[in-house]
Amino acid sequence: METDLIKFTNKNKEIFVKIKSFLDRSNFLNNKEEFINIVLKDLKKQKEEKNIAGFLNKKSLQYQLKREIFDSKQYPFFHYNIYHKIKIEKIKILIREVIEDINYLLDLEEISTYIFPTISNFVIKKMNGVSGFLAWKNIIHIYIYPLKGWEKNFKSAFLHELAHCMQPYYSYKMNLFEHLIAEGLAEQFQRYYLKKRNPWTKAINKKKAKEIFKKLDKKLDKSMEKNYSLHMNLFFGSKEYPLWSGYSIGFYLIEDILEKEKHINWKKLLETNPSLFKKNKKIKNWFE
Ligand SMILES: [Zn+2]
Repeated sequence: METDLIKFTNKNKEIFVKIKSFLDRSNFLNNKEEFINIVLKDLKKQKEEKNIAGFLNKKSLQYQLKREIFDSKQYPFFHYNIYHKIKIEKIKILIREVIEDINYLLDLEEISTYIFPTISNFVIKKMNGVSGFLAWKNIIHIYIYPLKGWEKNFKSAFLHELAHCMQPYYSYKMNLFEHLIAEGLAEQFQRYYLKKRNPWTKAINKKKAKEIFKKLDKKLDKSMEKNYSLHMNLFFGSKEYPLWSGYSIGFYLIEDILEKEKHINWKKLLETNPSLFKKNKKIKNWFE
């Protein structure tokens, strides 16, 4: 594991971004158990590591890593030596560029970023080789398979997760409506700064998005904690919902909310309780 620290100063405020990268461990990717063990060992050596990469116990981290790095299907053509081209300095530059743009919005004093390699077929084929995950309030995971142009995808995933860091309601307790708003905002937020629209925001068209949304009706109140599969099905696909429906629905909802808005106050938008958006006239027709 390689570690680094970036310090930002903005007015009287200091922000520290800690980076822990496991890209240098990619030569262990041939063996799932071995890779996970080496990650756990590296983390154990870190004195200031209070929780384990944002998780309360080893088991939950192991589950997350297996899902996000190895998937049920591994990418058959990977070469671990592709990671050696990515130095931690490169990651630092990308993080610095992102934070410099949104610095003025951040109240956080510290952000921890864990960088992992991934050979998940899904991440490589469907997500342009980069995926992100918010492990805890200010603890971000980014998983990378460096396809051509991965740098922009890295920034996109990092911005998306930073948006979640600024949403006080973002947790397993959020209900389905809050979850749709959270993801829609995160995607619109990254689009605003990067001018890039991700494929999961156009997995279905707006008409279909409204159709699915209207049928959700009472399901909108169901929490992620108690109805995990409902949330997963809507965001990651099932018999009932096409892949990424949730991301697209959220994106279109926020698109309507932001319509004709000249100056977007991201801080306010990200901190607003999503239930207040239900009263927004611009999305009234989603409920009719
Ligand atoms: Zn998200």
